[in-house]
Amino acid sequence: MTQKENPTEADLQENADPTGERPKKERVIHTRVPAVLEAELKKFADNLRVPVSNLVRTILEDAVAVADRASDKVEQRLRTAAQQLHDEREKVRQSIVKDPLDGVYAFQALVLNGSNECVKCHAELAAGDEVHLALSDKPGPRTFVCSQCIPVKK
Ligand SMILES: [Zn+2]
Repeated sequence: MTQKENPTEADLQENADPTGERPKKERVIHTRVPAVLEAELKKFADNLRVPVSNLVRTILEDAVAVADRASDKVEQRLRTAAQQLHDEREKVRQSIVKDPLDGVYAFQALVLNGSNECVKCHAELAAGDEVHLALSDKPGPRTFVCSQCIPVKK
């Protein structure tokens, strides 16, 4: 490519609008490219009827935007994964510390006929013990509560 046919970025800057419309932040980058790439760029630029430098700048800007989007996605994915981990951990924690009497709407006093354990304090309950059956709409095994674990009205 000869510099006469397509103005380089340096030419553009030298011929820059004296009113200073171009932002001063712009810098000139010189780089070597393979001849085949130059030929392709020139052909592409000719097709678009734009200077090669404009085409290269546009391609670079697109590439940077794509890279930005890619890193945004990666960051978003990491954030999502971290959030899921946090949520799952919270769920696990809640299921561990969950009050076993959650969902229990009443206690039925009765005398146990067989061994069991208090669902709350895990005290052993034996046949003949006065215990309370925890009544709940949740499916699951029958649960009993010892007299110490029954909520007391203060
Ligand atoms: Zn108990």
